[in-house]
Amino acid sequence: MVIPGEAPFISASSDGFSPTDSACRILLVDDDVALRTTLPHVLAQPGRSFDQCGNVQEAIARLESQHYELILLDYRLPDGTGLDVLDWLAGAKRDEAVVMISGEDAIDAAIGALRRGADDFVRKPYHVAQLQRAVQNALHKALLERANLAMSQRLKGSERLHRYLVESSPDFIFTLNTGGQFTYVNPRVETMLGYPRQYLIGKSLAQLTVHEDIGRVDTMMHEAINGSRSNQSVELRLRRRDPGSGKPGSSAIPVALNVVPIQGRNPNGPGEVPVGIYGVARDISDRKRAEEIITFQAYHDQLTHLPNRILFKDRLELAIAQAQRRGGLLAVMFIDVDRFKLVNDTSGHSEGDRLLRAIAQRIRDTLRKGDTLARLGGDEFTVLLPDIAHEHDAEIIARKIHAALEAPFELKHGSFRTTVSIGISVFPRDGEVAEMLTQHADIAMYQIKRGGKNGYCFFQPDLNQHHQERITLEHELRGALERNEFALLYQPQVSLSQRRVVGMEALLRWQHPKLGLVTPDTFIQVAEEIGLIGEISRWVVDTATAQLAQWRKAGFDKLRLSVNLSSHDFDRDETIARVQNRIEEHRLSNDCFDVEITESVMMRDTDEVVARVQRLRECGVGISIDDFGTGYSALAYLQKFPVSSLKIDRSFVSDLDGPAATPIISAITGIARGFSLHLVVEGVEHAEQAERLRRLGCDVMQGHYFSAAISAHEAERWLREPAALIH
Ligand code: C2E
Ligand code: CA
Ligand code: CA
Repeated sequence: MVIPGEAPFISASSDGFSPTDSACRILLVDDDVALRTTLPHVLAQPGRSFDQCGNVQEAIARLESQHYELILLDYRLPDGTGLDVLDWLAGAKRDEAVVMISGEDAIDAAIGALRRGADDFVRKPYHVAQLQRAVQNALHKALLERANLAMSQRLKGSERLHRYLVESSPDFIFTLNTGGQFTYVNPRVETMLGYPRQYLIGKSLAQLTVHEDIGRVDTMMHEAINGSRSNQSVELRLRRRDPGSGKPGSSAIPVALNVVPIQGRNPNGPGEVPVGIYGVARDISDRKRAEEIITFQAYHDQLTHLPNRILFKDRLELAIAQAQRRGGLLAVMFIDVDRFKLVNDTSGHSEGDRLLRAIAQRIRDTLRKGDTLARLGGDEFTVLLPDIAHEHDAEIIARKIHAALEAPFELKHGSFRTTVSIGISVFPRDGEVAEMLTQHADIAMYQIKRGGKNGYCFFQPDLNQHHQERITLEHELRGALERNEFALLYQPQVSLSQRRVVGMEALLRWQHPKLGLVTPDTFIQVAEEIGLIGEISRWVVDTATAQLAQWRKAGFDKLRLSVNLSSHDFDRDETIARVQNRIEEHRLSNDCFDVEITESVMMRDTDEVVARVQRLRECGVGISIDDFGTGYSALAYLQKFPVSSLKIDRSFVSDLDGPAATPIISAITGIARGFSLHLVVEGVEHAEQAERLRRLGCDVMQGHYFSAAISAHEAERWLREPAALIH
């Protein structure tokens, strides 16, 4: 650091303090030449050197060009007196020691010389020893004076340094008296807190301190003054000047305050006592802000800024403790967004993020102030209702949440409707600790998911059992492909008019090691939910196309085969691409391979889905609408999608006597004819049904009346000897 205009420290070695080790120049001013030659011998000592001259002018000339430690100055000189030299020295502010040597006996001369700054006066004639002593004393005195000067300069420098450091410090530095009042404040206080320095003198530190922190200031003062702790550090908030009143206002900044007692003479006895406090307050706003951000991030979800799992658990535990004390109820909700993955997969993650934020906002708006909405990650949220009078209250909130989500969300690709599944657990009935309540709400949520999503449900103890089973199922399903536990069965489709098998539907089975043959209704949805359906579908496509190729090679070249795809398979390209590849590989492009999809796929109607269905159609794959008549029956999609066949749902067959079945079946046969679509009726169980359906215009039938789903080997018999098998 450079101190303006001041060398801060004078090093000890430049003081010239020791009389022996530093060079000592002595000037002899005397017109007596003999004396000038003898004196150097008389006064010789190591380190001493001598110059000489004989009059005032020469003396001044010497002095102008040279500094001396000592001048031996004759009083009477040819061109004046020694007093003239003394005057010159005084005028030039020189610090040479002077010993006046003179034959004058007048005491006046001596006094005059001493007054004008000579250090000693030796009268001629003198003893050599006398002169030697005078020279020694003068030199010693001069050295002491110089040392003194150096010391005081050093002090001045150091004082200036410290003043500079204090005044330009980025910290607020102050001193307090024992009453806690400011006796000094540095200029920094003006920018830090806004007060003029003078305003604060005499005010107390407590007046500047935020109310809640005053206790800390008192303790700190007390400890510093009473010496129980000499150096302390506390964090507190200092109030800024209110621009209106000029007094301490409500805005404050956090500071780290360090204080040490100032020691002073004890007025009542020996030794020192604290007479005040020296304090340094550092503005720690930035650090505090950084700390706040870090804490916030540790307890909040980055995306939605909602509390995260950790904070939720904290609040839940607190709420449980309070409810226990009160003997009250609380509720935990587990909320999962239905089909959220779809948005992420089709519109991209940034749109997915936007949707999550918007959902969070709407849910939050339905809650009261004391409730907590947290995001556990992904599309999972939890809600804590810390104080409900009745479990019915939780139900009301769940309905409100559903209502709040009813209006569509505007996303980049258009508006999107979303629903959520809500599971609810209630303290103390469903659990008395946080984990239990959250887990049970989660289980209840799964129940809703399984039951078709978009609803709410309270936890029931037997759900737990289901939940465990479900977890096991998921686990086993994940390994099923690798363990080769899947198999395809084939169900023949018979043309009554041609009396032969015109098609087969491939139906999936899971050969479970313990449960035996498991039908797809039990596991397809689970596979969809855990993201496994794509891999399974691709296995189905591989197996079915290979089987069809084999049958066609064996000569059954009019046979059609269909597989079922999940609507999830149309969210991505992989399965569609796989169908294309296998069709090319096995040369099945001449409309002999069908993909069965439900109307729900058609209703999705996004550009991507339409494009994927079209791609299949373009490579010669038939598109068959499964369970036709049960879904939306909005036939507009028949024009938009390149559909090639319809499968009349078996519910119409089993209810042929009902009022609606007959007109609907005739309508469907009409549509099929109008659009030139293949038509298959499923679930035909009796001869009578087959006959009635035939009369309603149906020809191709599938159902237990003909055959259940059977192995490829058994199915082949149907191809070889249809006449023997068809009734
Ligand atoms: P679906 O596509 O409607 O298949 C027809 C279902 O009706 C089959 O059940 C079949 O065994 C059954 N069925 C056939 N004839 C009769 C009958 O006369 N009476 C009765 N009551 N039922 C009959 P399955 O094999 O259990 O398949 C159930 C559903 O699982 C299928 O319904 C289909 O939606 C799905 N599924 C089957 N295989 C696959 C597959 O490989 N992939 C996908 N994604 N879904 C599949
Ligand atoms: Ca089907
Ligand atoms: Ca069906």
